[in-house]
Amino acid sequence: MSVKVGVLALQGDVREHLEALEASGTSAISVRRERELEQVDGLVIPGGESTTISKLLGMFDLFEPIQARLKDGMPAFGSCAGMILLASEVLDTRDDAVNFGAIDMTVRRNAFGRQVDSFEQDLDFVGLDSPLRAVFIRAPWVERVGSGVEVLARDSGGHIVAVRHGNVMATAFHPEVTSDHRVHGLFARLVQTA
Ligand code: GLN
Repeated sequence: MSVKVGVLALQGDVREHLEALEASGTSAISVRRERELEQVDGLVIPGGESTTISKLLGMFDLFEPIQARLKDGMPAFGSCAGMILLASEVLDTRDDAVNFGAIDMTVRRNAFGRQVDSFEQDLDFVGLDSPLRAVFIRAPWVERVGSGVEVLARDSGGHIVAVRHGNVMATAFHPEVTSDHRVHGLFARLVQTA
């Protein structure tokens, strides 16, 4: 079955996710309107700035429709700011920021701190047979996961940096900025089997 994946296109790494999806053989469109959301079988929430995306979700009337699709089981993948938006609890964010609660986890925003705000590391990732080069940019980490959440990767300090809860995946790093599209491939398979 051929599936169509949407990339939430309010702010952030939209083009990079569209290209990574297409490169892994998945047709992809940007989503900025409810009628575009209705056309997709899965949604990517890109890296960017979670508080800005949060504000724009309100302005574009997209928060409730996306949350309803997630409750209905729509597969989703969030990188970095996208991970923050998919979490059930966010630490160190603005009081007025919203999040979808699609993954039972507590995420700390900008957790790696200003001194190491960007770095790269090779990680073992569940489902991939060789290490993945992970690019972290003012990344969050995951401080707690619920019992239904599978940990997909940890950084060298042991922090959880990739998870899956049912059909929803998230990474603290940015698979969309490298030429290795295997994480997008894993997500595309999840959308196909959902
Ligand atoms: N620190 C950003 C936030 O809070 C996330 C950074 C990113 O997506 N590269 O949303």
